[in-house]
Amino acid sequence: MSYICKECHENIKGCCRFFDEPNSIEIGISLPEAYKISQATGLEIDQFLQKDNIDSLLVDSLARTIHPIFNKIFYKGIRYKLKTIDNNCVFLTEAGCKLEKRIRPFYCNLYPFWLMPDEDRLRVLINHECLAQQRAVNISDLLKMFGINRNDIINEFYSFEETLSEHVRIIESNDNIII
Ligand code: SF4
Ligand code: SF4
Repeated sequence: MSYICKECHENIKGCCRFFDEPNSIEIGISLPEAYKISQATGLEIDQFLQKDNIDSLLVDSLARTIHPIFNKIFYKGIRYKLKTIDNNCVFLTEAGCKLEKRIRPFYCNLYPFWLMPDEDRLRVLINHECLAQQRAVNISDLLKMFGINRNDIINEFYSFEETLSEHVRIIESNDNIII
């Protein structure tokens, strides 16, 4: 975990805490990501994943204003999201995320960055509570705080897109859907 996220978490703010706000976009994770976590941790999927529905107007708005990828993340209005314990992500520990980066949801590895549609320009998902965003003066500053570069984010985003195609295929074929 980067120093800035550690400090943010110590101040009980971090983005791994969710407060069940209506229509929050709380981490939508894909089924292949969930299968990967299950395989690596030995946990059953229903020990860490839950499913609900998300308002189609919200999905449309996210797809139009941020990126069409949201149509796949919340395919058919279904949202798979990580369970919480006392409003904390089920994988959050005092030392940060329990999951190794390679099996962590794409959304977590990307946050707070995203890509602009149809081009490889970065954008930041604005969150006024994010300590890094409060302190950074520009996007380069923000990248430096997380110790990542633009290409890392682009590659991560493309892998996310590929994985979401598989997610859509699984839902369409109704294969192996455990929850
Ligand atoms: S990404 Fe932002 S909100 Fe999330 S833990 Fe780091 S500083 Fe806090
Ligand atoms: S999986 Fe890890 S990084 Fe993602 S919300 Fe949970 S604790 Fe945070």
